[in-house]
Amino acid sequence: MAGRLVIVGAGQAGFALAAKLRALKDERPITILGAEDVIPYQRPPLSKKYLLGEMDFERLTYRPQSWFEENNVELRLSAYVEEIHRDDKHVRMADGSTLDYENLALATGASPRTLPAALGGDLDGVYTVRDKRDADRLAGEMRPGRRLLIIGGGYIGLEAAAVARHLGLEVTLIEMADRILQRVAAPQTADIMRAIHVGHGVAIREKTGLRRLLGMDGKVTAAELSDDTTLDVDFVIVGIGVSPNDRLAQDSGIEVANGILVDEFARTSDPAIFAMGDCAMLPWKGMQIRLESVQNAVDQAEAAAAVLAGAGVPYEPKPWFWSDQYDVKLQIAGFNLGYDETLQRAGSREGSASVWYFREGHLVAVDAINDAKAYVTGKKLLESGLPVDRARLADPSVDLKQLLS
Ligand SMILES: Cc1cc2nc3c(=O)[nH]c(=O)nc-3n(C[C@H](O)[C@H](O)[C@H](O)COP(=O)(O)OP(=O)(O)OC[C@H]3O[C@@H](n4cnc5c(N)ncnc54)[C@H](O)[C@@H]3O)c2cc1C
Repeated sequence: MAGRLVIVGAGQAGFALAAKLRALKDERPITILGAEDVIPYQRPPLSKKYLLGEMDFERLTYRPQSWFEENNVELRLSAYVEEIHRDDKHVRMADGSTLDYENLALATGASPRTLPAALGGDLDGVYTVRDKRDADRLAGEMRPGRRLLIIGGGYIGLEAAAVARHLGLEVTLIEMADRILQRVAAPQTADIMRAIHVGHGVAIREKTGLRRLLGMDGKVTAAELSDDTTLDVDFVIVGIGVSPNDRLAQDSGIEVANGILVDEFARTSDPAIFAMGDCAMLPWKGMQIRLESVQNAVDQAEAAAAVLAGAGVPYEPKPWFWSDQYDVKLQIAGFNLGYDETLQRAGSREGSASVWYFREGHLVAVDAINDAKAYVTGKKLLESGLPVDRARLADPSVDLKQLLS
């Protein structure tokens, strides 16, 4: 039997790796070392139903505690790994204890970017949303009538805005760039999502940055904005992106470049060590990319499991992502990096639409807004590589199914 696999990080990818190995009947000893004090759980609801109070923690977890015992997967919580000693293959935890490995998997995720203290980022009442503890602290602030400032118009900021409006807060969202969703979606998708939020009463201020947060007795009270206005606030959510947790790898001499560099088998520059999920930078269609999504964390971890179990095939990401805001489901298939053309199509029912992305004439992604048919068709078209007739796609009288034949 193979020697011990140590997994650093008890999140989406870490859990998926252990679960897949057991599903493949691989019986090697597995230890998962997780920095948090709770068993592995899904993060997406933290800015959606969990924050709204409509989902309890048990429903967030992938499996109950008993699964780990029944499957002989040792789970050590509150176990933060500080060092990897590659020469004699062990890791050292923050409490000084060590653990030997034959293979190591780094599934350390990403950390939200924070505001520097010089801008008031260290004041009480300033939050990021990454883990259960963040969401629990934030939920305590979400009371009707309170004034919330959200910094950053990406998915996390927009989802938090939707929750806050649902709960009756006054919400202002500022975005330094020209528009919300600038980094991840086309102007058409941003226009649709902006209109939805404005319709729900969110004050969206684009091209508006934060000068600094002001506080009293260590607690945030106001925000000075780049347009020379000052806004009174009760609390602030910072949603300005994440950075991969790659320091552990870097300190041990593993190759890192804005994420832990891996090959298509999720192997790092050390053949005994794998990396997967948000912390990994992977090759795809001649590019190096990092994908921050459930799909990638699970699929890449499962690909690594197959490699460990001896039957690996190269991992080819099939990106998909979703975001829930109010009663709107945004589903994204593909990856729009480097797109040079977009096309918007009206959906068959009110409020549904889709935005299609092309690069050099080839479909690369689709954003479907309350439009499951567009999402499913887009996914099939991306998988098949079939050429897409753009004139027919733009014509709402053409059934999407016809594009598949
Ligand atoms: C609020 C929120 C909403 C999201 N919504 C969506 C969505 O709608 N759709 C979607 O596809 N994706 C969504 N995502 C992204 C998705 O959750 C992540 O892509 C996914 O969790 C990545 O899995 P991972 O295992 O790489 O990292 P994580 O799930 O973050 O797990 C990493 C774990 O490693 C631990 N760790 C880090 N360093 C160490 C160390 N040195 N020692 C021990 N443990 C360590 C961390 O504490 C963490 O528990 C969302 C994320 C957040 C935060």
